[in-house]
Amino acid sequence: MTHSTPSNPVTHADWQALAEHLTVEAGLEARAYIDDTFVDAADGATFTTLNPATGETLAEVASCDAADAETAVSVARCAFESGAWSRSSPGERKAVLLRLADLMEAHKHELALLDSLDMGKPVSSAMGDMAGAIGCIRHHAESIDKLYGEIAPTGEESLGLVLREPLGVVASIVPWNFPLMMTAWKIGPALAAGNSVILKPSEKSPLSALRLAQLTREAGLPRGVFQVLPGFGHTVGKALALSMGVDCLAFTGSTGVGKQLMQYAGQSNLKKVFLECGGKSPNLVFADCKDLDRVAEHAAAAIFHNQGEVCIAGSRLLVENSIRERFVGKVLAAAERMQPGDPLDPASFMGAMVDQTQYQRVLDYIRQGVEEGATLRAGGQALDIEGAKGLFIGPTVFDGVTDTMAIGREEIFGPVLAVFGFDTEEEAVRLANDSDYGLAAGLWSQDIDRIMRVTRRLRSGQVFVNNWADMDQTVPFGGVKQSGNGRDKSHHSLEEYSDLKTVWMTLAT
Ligand code: NAD
Repeated sequence: MTHSTPSNPVTHADWQALAEHLTVEAGLEARAYIDDTFVDAADGATFTTLNPATGETLAEVASCDAADAETAVSVARCAFESGAWSRSSPGERKAVLLRLADLMEAHKHELALLDSLDMGKPVSSAMGDMAGAIGCIRHHAESIDKLYGEIAPTGEESLGLVLREPLGVVASIVPWNFPLMMTAWKIGPALAAGNSVILKPSEKSPLSALRLAQLTREAGLPRGVFQVLPGFGHTVGKALALSMGVDCLAFTGSTGVGKQLMQYAGQSNLKKVFLECGGKSPNLVFADCKDLDRVAEHAAAAIFHNQGEVCIAGSRLLVENSIRERFVGKVLAAAERMQPGDPLDPASFMGAMVDQTQYQRVLDYIRQGVEEGATLRAGGQALDIEGAKGLFIGPTVFDGVTDTMAIGREEIFGPVLAVFGFDTEEEAVRLANDSDYGLAAGLWSQDIDRIMRVTRRLRSGQVFVNNWADMDQTVPFGGVKQSGNGRDKSHHSLEEYSDLKTVWMTLAT
């Protein structure tokens, strides 16, 4: 960066000025990171990553394939066997990971901006992601030297030790909607536990992962312990998933790809497959809520945050019929204040859709919702934003949705809210649970008995009571049913990246 670059951007103009400097010509890295070195893909292939808010090319990125995966897996295995990281003391790993967190903190504006430019999210929202990502790395760094093993309650003639050991080579395959934060959720616990990690970022948002690779080197992570392979799912992602040298696939992404990864594991070496997948999360609003304005504001933010490209988006709003018309009016008013704008303007609540495919997919669902007979109350079309040429869709609200409509059942992954009505608690629970997914659910009520009754009956990895998505690094994050089978965050996530070893010692008595 030159000295004209704002080191602490605040205004729209500051962010625009900083963006001018994030180019390959100015040193932005777009090659793969293998064996501590930035390299082109073995066959020299590249793909273009675009800024979806402007349509401009950001970089030509190395497009890795099976040959690169094979090299990275053997480097990762050598690094693991060397013990430089895997057998280092928890205190040593802690020191390196804390240095990494400090470096991320020092470069958070740049990292946030890369995510915003690469996938269209508002830069203010990307700054929130940085806090989550840095906090995650710090949390695992701090916790790894405070975890003890177990001694089993045996008789005096034996000693049963239960040890936790790293798995070996972990391949982390992540999506584009929170590029760096999802990466941190995976690599934080995986590295803390002593594994070698190969990261495959999404082909739609590879840039922050490559910048992170530079920072891991600066933090002092030993050679080969962390590598980044940009490229497509069906090429390098599939090669990692089928590799006999990968011990664990840690995946965040769609349910369809999650199912494929389980098959690849079965076709290869039965590697551990840990999945965080999609959702169609219900948000239940009961008539006894006191402050409906506040609830409506949260219900709108639950779906329109990050343009609705959020796994736990509150995309199904279930409202007690006695307040439905009044409440939907308040949601529409809140939605009106959440319009998309230039992602580099810190005042923008929503940004651009990630790419043409996702943009078209959302518009197709909106058309289908109208055809299926739901009532379109807001939005529903592509927007032109002054000064931007990108892929913007306004906050869209459908009322009168039923559980037979595609917009009421399928994950749209865009700013489309489906409102259902209900008359009884029983009906609300039935509607909420009538889904293939079980990632998150919200519940708004003042009645503590009802809160406890309904909370226990919701089939969901997390239930938000009188909030939506208020949480932090200390609590586990993950789903049930087809939303996945693992947990990110908190000390529970370390369990995903380690195996238990029993040592049974017979003692002379
Ligand atoms: P996706 O499943 O299309 O892709 C995710 C990753 O998998 C990408 O890196 C992609 O390249 C890779 N991939 C695709 N096909 C592959 C294959 N055959 N083999 C190996 N890798 C392959 O998902 P996406 O569009 O990037 O992200 C959106 C999805 O992610 C949504 O369903 C969303 O709900 C989910 N998500 C879940 C969570 C969670 O914590 N549960 C968080 C964020 C996003």
